[in-house]
Amino acid sequence: MSKTKTKKKLKRNSDPTPATTRSRVRSRADLPKGESLCDYCTAKCCHYFALPIDEPVSRKDFDFIRWYLLHDRATVFVDEETWYLLVHTTCKHLQDDYRCGIYETRPEICREYTTDNCEFEDDWCYERYFETPEQIDEYADALFGPQFEQAGRRKQDAIRSRRPTGLPVV
Ligand code: SF4
Ligand code: SF4
Repeated sequence: MSKTKTKKKLKRNSDPTPATTRSRVRSRADLPKGESLCDYCTAKCCHYFALPIDEPVSRKDFDFIRWYLLHDRATVFVDEETWYLLVHTTCKHLQDDYRCGIYETRPEICREYTTDNCEFEDDWCYERYFETPEQIDEYADALFGPQFEQAGRRKQDAIRSRRPTGLPVV
């Protein structure tokens, strides 16, 4: 994943690549010589932004992350021990042909981004990935015990055995 610090992209050819041709280039190795990888991509790097966040160390920190995850399209991932807030949202200037609508005045972060290490072939797998508030809550529960008494009771009443608390999470 890359648009965490820098982002984006070479100028596309004026003639958009048809989807059928685009699908033929699945990896960098398939790229015809002298062509731009961006011409074979659906602008994956224009569909999100991600920002590094402090590593959560307390219950309160995890509750902040739970708040992030209460919002549409917000997720949190951990990569090489750094925590990131990832928001899946499409840039308002991305055009239907996956070209930048403000190419000449695009932000610096977009200018600096290159195809060298971009997410063209990214499988979007992370060391840890949280998509829902329940997931981060479970993670924090394992570290600190239940945050809410009621939530703790619900777990005790559940048909499944209660999860042991206090186990180390790697
Ligand atoms: S993800 Fe890579 S190949 Fe796709 S548009 Fe962005 S820079 Fe170009
Ligand atoms: S400004 Fe252009 S290059 Fe930057 S994210 Fe938006 S569409 Fe993509």
